[in-house]
Amino acid sequence: PTNINALADEYLRLAYHGLRAKDKSFNAELETHFDATLPKINVIPQDIGRVFLNLFTNAFYATHQKQKTANQEYKPVLCVTTTQKENFVEITVKDNGTGIPDGIKDKIMQPFFTTKPAGEGTGLGLSLSYDIVVKSHGGTINIETEEGKGSVFIITLPK
Ligand code: ADP
Ligand code: MG
Repeated sequence: PTNINALADEYLRLAYHGLRAKDKSFNAELETHFDATLPKINVIPQDIGRVFLNLFTNAFYATHQKQKTANQEYKPVLCVTTTQKENFVEITVKDNGTGIPDGIKDKIMQPFFTTKPAGEGTGLGLSLSYDIVVKSHGGTINIETEEGKGSVFIITLPK
């Protein structure tokens, strides 16, 4: 049984400090809305941790990319929310980064698909996340995104 709020919080810090260690110019505001009544759920914590690490790193990366072309007004924000529904726990990861262009939306879950330069991405993060969340844990992954505005990745895990 795992406390998803604590797990998300831990990996949020790992993702943030991991990116800061590589690039000091990286920064983003972190917003968390953790449902304090969330029940512990049965998951493999290391695996769900990898999913979180990838989703948060992707989100931060997208805000950092946008920061390179946006004006001074732009404030990178990553917002992580947990909520409880009748049969599942929902985790949303929302960024105001680059968003995903229509032309590549249907490719991002494929193994080895990446828009990152060599050395910065393997393209395995989302396909691995799919295997972990959907195949091993019986959950779902949904994506809402708009090019230039940002993205929301919505994960559900059964209680
Ligand atoms: P990688 O991070 O190694 O590129 P992923 O499987 O994690 O591999 O992601 C695949 C691609 O999906 C990324 O290269 C990027 O183009 C796109 N992507 C994923 N998350 C986001 C996001 N939050 N914002 C914009 N693009 C994203
Ligand atoms: Mg990734």
